[in-house]
Amino acid sequence: MPVPGELTFAAPRGAKPPRHLADLTPGERREAVAALGEKPFRAGQVSRHYFARLADDPAHWTDIPAASRDRLASDLLPDLMSVVRHVSCDGDTTRKTLWRLFDGTLVESVLMRYPDRVTMCISSQAGCGMNCPFCATGQAGLTRNLSTAEIVHQIVAGMRSLRDGEIPGGAARLNNIVFMGMGEPLANYKKVVGAIRRLTDPEPDGLGLSQRGITVSTVGLVPAMHRLADEDMKVRLALSLHAPDDELRDTLVPVNTRWKVSEVLDAAWNYAERSGRRVSIEYALIKDINDQAWRADLLARKLKNHRVHVNLIPLNPTPGSKWTASRPEDEREFVRQLEKHGVPVTVRDTRGQEIDGACGQLAAAER
Ligand code: SF4
Repeated sequence: MPVPGELTFAAPRGAKPPRHLADLTPGERREAVAALGEKPFRAGQVSRHYFARLADDPAHWTDIPAASRDRLASDLLPDLMSVVRHVSCDGDTTRKTLWRLFDGTLVESVLMRYPDRVTMCISSQAGCGMNCPFCATGQAGLTRNLSTAEIVHQIVAGMRSLRDGEIPGGAARLNNIVFMGMGEPLANYKKVVGAIRRLTDPEPDGLGLSQRGITVSTVGLVPAMHRLADEDMKVRLALSLHAPDDELRDTLVPVNTRWKVSEVLDAAWNYAERSGRRVSIEYALIKDINDQAWRADLLARKLKNHRVHVNLIPLNPTPGSKWTASRPEDEREFVRQLEKHGVPVTVRDTRGQEIDGACGQLAAAER
């Protein structure tokens, strides 16, 4: 049953997402507007409506002549995605959204409101080609890369719901963005970097968010990690390591057969050096697989004295999977081993478990 406002058609396979204002640099926007026969400064006006006012309904663009509004809106702000459903938990302060894109593809984003901050977790690809065996998204494979605008619009929609008081706690602003939803962000490099620019360019060219509030995760695509370091940005890099030794990591993160732990860590330290930011090491604790004390010790030896913080993630098991979260005593010992070597570590809050919070689970259920 279609949800009101939902796009119900499916574009032919391989069709490109419609071009949108958020795909374009400010210069490209002026060219696009001029190509419509409009004055180039209208590009700045439309940008202000979309990025600064979060308003894409041309009926509200009173500074633009009525005759131009629909033309500009249909050319620069095509419908990109529609809500299939929202699922909430934690007193409605965690809200996961399943989106249907123009071609029927499904992706997810999650908004998490804490007492002192709001974080959104967004998708950069539909599906993922990295094939990590413990991950729901990995099991379905890669459908396609998202466009820059499809990435940015997840945030615009989240900012609107915060502004409009849809999330309990009153109107709020977004503080943090993590590229930890569906997909390997660095496998969609250009579109992801374009999205970071749109998110952080000052209004009205972009949303004016802080680069320091953005975290980009990767399983360790070494050349792309070096390229990101060359961008001279202040976003945080989160490396999904999950094992300190190649033998196990080859099986948990198959891309490790291409770039080994030592190479991946070297690329992470290079990024830390260039960006001035601590690298986050993500480590999903999986019972009897990667949670032994000796592995914690090995991990600590490889990380100590570097600009790093370890995030331990109790595994959120996917339905029908043999992988499950570590025993509490093993988790405690893992933390103790890292702390013994002076490596900063936290165990991540596992919000959203009751709403299929791990990436890809809601989309998998829908399929
Ligand atoms: S864990 Fe991340 S990189 Fe691995 S398959 Fe899942 S989404 Fe892809």
